[in-house]
Amino acid sequence: MIEQEIDITIIGAGVSGLILANEITERTSKKVLLLEKKKKFKFDKNLCYWSVPRNSLTDYADNRWSTICVLINKDRIVYQTKGIEYLRIKSSNFYNYFLKKLNKRKNFKLLLGHSINSVKSLDDEVIIDTGRKEIKSKICFDSRIENNYSKNQLLQHFFGVEIIFKNKVSNNVLTLMDIQNNKKAFNFFYILPMSKNKIFIESTYFSKNFFKKEKYKNDLNKYLLKNYSGNEYKIKFDEFGVIPMYELRNLDSKNHIKIGTAGNWVKQSTGYSLQNAFENSKQIVDCIIEGKTPKIKKKYFFTFLDKTFCKFLINNPEDGILFFDNFFRKNKLKTIVNFLTNTASLLELAKIIISLPKFKLIKTAIMRK
Ligand SMILES: Cc1cc2nc3c(=O)[nH]c(=O)nc-3n(C[C@H](O)[C@H](O)[C@H](O)COP(=O)(O)OP(=O)(O)OC[C@H]3O[C@@H](n4cnc5c(N)ncnc54)[C@H](O)[C@@H]3O)c2cc1C
Repeated sequence: MIEQEIDITIIGAGVSGLILANEITERTSKKVLLLEKKKKFKFDKNLCYWSVPRNSLTDYADNRWSTICVLINKDRIVYQTKGIEYLRIKSSNFYNYFLKKLNKRKNFKLLLGHSINSVKSLDDEVIIDTGRKEIKSKICFDSRIENNYSKNQLLQHFFGVEIIFKNKVSNNVLTLMDIQNNKKAFNFFYILPMSKNKIFIESTYFSKNFFKKEKYKNDLNKYLLKNYSGNEYKIKFDEFGVIPMYELRNLDSKNHIKIGTAGNWVKQSTGYSLQNAFENSKQIVDCIIEGKTPKIKKKYFFTFLDKTFCKFLINNPEDGILFFDNFFRKNKLKTIVNFLTNTASLLELAKIIISLPKFKLIKTAIMRK
């Protein structure tokens, strides 16, 4: 494929870029160029998702958990629902899965080591400056995040480590949240049992500011000492993340469109975007096939609820435990997962709202800030 013939350029071969490139090249003959600043792909994060609704990775997970628990105030809520599993894929396997498919297609080209500086949107084309040359294309989908995250908004921030213990530790029950009694910021541990003596454990916060890595490391050390004392361990891998739990401003034009975290594909109340990346890519390609400007249908009520929940947590961090206690204790796993994946019915959404601290939520919903 020569660069003068490109129909669609995608900036960033991460989660959204690869899923979108795959969807376009599988369903259309459009010529796609994927530009990535990294020189090679490696294992840089664990990607988790629910087994419902299905996506093309549902059968390719590295781990699957059917027993899921949440710990609140020393109480354990355990879920086991037929047909619902929590899945994890190593990011390296995620990249390989898509690259293997994409590299076989004639209408696809990947350029690594290309860090994009700017994109100029004209009437009928976009000009992408790679620092080495200018590339022209009809549409550009862009997963670069423009600015630093804004102050005073809610962030999900976390540091996690993969640990190998000397002796057996795990019973294959996934801990979605072990909520800590922290009045200043909402904090929980997230534990993925990987094998009998291997876990991935993360200290996660929902708050306005993220911390130096030492802070999360201290949390993890204390937690490990309390819960796994006397069992020697080695740390194999770590990951750090900061995810916005609010809507990022972007200035999309008809031919320069933000995708992924930059395009607000992350569900605000959870920090997850994988499921949305499949759904949104499908909608974009539907528009391309119909000759329309790519647009993603807004799910206004879900967005309103996500915003309200995040505003509730930012204004009432001391009530975070009560909020999640009600959310998890009073709802079935199916309802919870449907909410988390934006597939809940109106009845399920009503059940969730009724289960939560209603008066404070209503007050939060009508407050401007
Ligand atoms: C550590 C971590 C763990 C996460 N775990 C989950 C999870 O389990 N489940 C879930 O649903 N979500 C998870 N998320 C949230 C979200 O799904 C991921 O961040 C996801 O990778 C977002 O996709 P993206 O395409 O926007 O960004 P990325 O996947 O980060 O892709 C962006 C790509 O653009 C490239 N790039 C950046 N700047 C340039 C440039 N100037 N020129 C060219 N290329 C550039 C980057 O190198 C990168 O490859 C996690 C996030 C983090 C940070």
